[in-house]
Amino acid sequence: MDNENLPSIIAGKPIRCRAAICRAPGEPLVIEEITVDPPKSHEVRVRIICTSLCYSDVTFWKMKDFPAVFPRILGHEAIGIVESVGENVIEVAEGDIVIPHFLADCMECADCKSKKSNLCSMFPFKVSPWMPRYQTSRFKDLKGETIHHFLSVSSFTEYTVVDIAHVVKVDPAVPPNRACLLSCGVSTGVGAAWRTANVEAGTTVAIFGLGSIGLAVAEGARICGATRIIGVDVNPEKFEIGKMFGVTDFVHSKNCGGKSVSQVIIEMTDGGADYCFECVGLASLVHEAYASCRKGWGKTIVLGVDKPGSQLRFSSFEVLHHGKVLMGSLFGGLKAKSDIPILLKRYMDKELELDKFVTHEMRFEDINKAFDLLKEGKCLRCVIWMDK
Ligand SMILES: [Zn+2]
Ligand SMILES: [Zn+2]
Repeated sequence: MDNENLPSIIAGKPIRCRAAICRAPGEPLVIEEITVDPPKSHEVRVRIICTSLCYSDVTFWKMKDFPAVFPRILGHEAIGIVESVGENVIEVAEGDIVIPHFLADCMECADCKSKKSNLCSMFPFKVSPWMPRYQTSRFKDLKGETIHHFLSVSSFTEYTVVDIAHVVKVDPAVPPNRACLLSCGVSTGVGAAWRTANVEAGTTVAIFGLGSIGLAVAEGARICGATRIIGVDVNPEKFEIGKMFGVTDFVHSKNCGGKSVSQVIIEMTDGGADYCFECVGLASLVHEAYASCRKGWGKTIVLGVDKPGSQLRFSSFEVLHHGKVLMGSLFGGLKAKSDIPILLKRYMDKELELDKFVTHEMRFEDINKAFDLLKEGKCLRCVIWMDK
């Protein structure tokens, strides 16, 4: 690489910066100085502007066994500015504003070229501790020990390195503390309604679990024109917050007067909801969602995942006679490079509402407080500013 032509004086050299390291499961992150190697071919080094905490960060922070590894830099929802690029990177240049995304979009494999899939086969989704193309790390602590990557992003650091298949250039006019939400969680929920289910105007939607993903599904269903959005949750307080996201009806799953949730929804909707979304990650709830959607055209979309090895069981008779659709949705079925810019434009056009997802903002130094808030269920999204 010909570094002399690059204005950045640190391009091509390791950078020393601060990162929040997860050194042991469940222990507070430690802010330390690290070195970040320059990007290799097809890689980009990014200065993070802000990052937000997603529940998967908490899951992998607590997890003791593989695929959890330590030390690791967590974080996978972010926005940043390209500091330097490796060889063979033409899509972005130094100074571009970019959003990293955990699900690859290589734009070359059969899946990325197809409109029907967002599941890249060149870089299939896995929770790897390495950069996806070389199976190595770009991070070291000051003792020279390797620090592991997370979900091809690792955003709890002032600088990170991301493969070009995991980064999309975005409009710099969008406020970064809103744009970063489209890096994972909000995109997943909105995309599940918009791209995976393709919710039609005037339809009825049921959402199982009103956490931040379920609320993002509600927002997606709302902008698609769904007229009735039924929220299902064990906690009736979720209805109040759900209303802000377009939820029109509420089913308290612990208090259905002796009926199952699906019986209640079938009665409410005179035959079942047009679309059901499972946003918790419980096999039993997938069955309940499937039972709640209308025969003939009902679609059930699964966004959550249950414990490893858990199974779903369906009666063969029911599958044939009810003609329903059951689909999984990773990253909301979105193709990151084309769909994230569309969602950002819809935010700028005041159609997609992102502001209401941000319940907290804080400085990088306070990142452990963000973990506490999310664990206690007190926040939807906490934006962490790297330089404030
Ligand atoms: Zn691909
Ligand atoms: Zn996430």
